[in-house]
Amino acid sequence: MAAQGGPESVVIIGGGAAGNAAAEMLRREGYTGPVTMLSADDSGPYDRPNLSKDFLAGTAPEEWIPLRPPEFYADQRIEQKLGARATAIDARSREVKLADDTRDHYGALLLATGAVPVRLAIPGSDLPHIPLSADARGQPGIDRCGGERGSRGRHRRELHRS
Ligand SMILES: Cc1cc2nc3c(=O)[nH]c(=O)nc-3n(C[C@H](O)[C@H](O)[C@H](O)COP(=O)(O)OP(=O)(O)OC[C@H]3O[C@@H](n4cnc5c(N)ncnc54)[C@H](O)[C@@H]3O)c2cc1C
Repeated sequence: MAAQGGPESVVIIGGGAAGNAAAEMLRREGYTGPVTMLSADDSGPYDRPNLSKDFLAGTAPEEWIPLRPPEFYADQRIEQKLGARATAIDARSREVKLADDTRDHYGALLLATGAVPVRLAIPGSDLPHIPLSADARGQPGIDRCGGERGSRGRHRRELHRS
């Protein structure tokens, strides 16, 4: 597609499900130019809905959480830049500025920055054992249940205070 008048490159800001789907679809539709995914996250795209369900219940292993294995991005020539927060876009020069002061040039830019949950503005909501479920992986405040089931067959869900 790049050789047939498409953009010289595509930069996607956002490494969630939407950014991941966009990158995959570009390749599936035959786009051959450079695709770069910039993500403020420290890990690649993962299954956020699972965090509050099977993962929290302890019935989904950690390996199920990434949407794709690292090899997938290498095979598909999708460059992932993790921990890369975009701070400004210069549409005139077609550049994204990152928090570390580096810049990425783009032919086409796709914004897939998702949303951030609103935190409760009440006393105690900023205590260390009150994590956002979106950040549930590796948080000290949440212990997974280990898949144990209660006597009525429902998952026993316990949030332990650290
Ligand atoms: C715990 C939990 C359970 C959920 N359960 C369900 C469910 O059961 N059913 C359902 O339909 N949906 C569910 N959702 C919602 C679903 O996960 C979201 O709708 C989906 O993740 C949105 O994907 P997204 O890619 O648009 O945004 P996000 O997943 O929010 O991803 C946004 C990405 O953009 C990056 N980003 C943001 N700003 C910048 C920046 N300036 N520079 C670089 N990168 C940036 C972020 O780091 C992140 O990688 C759940 C969400 C959570 C957290």
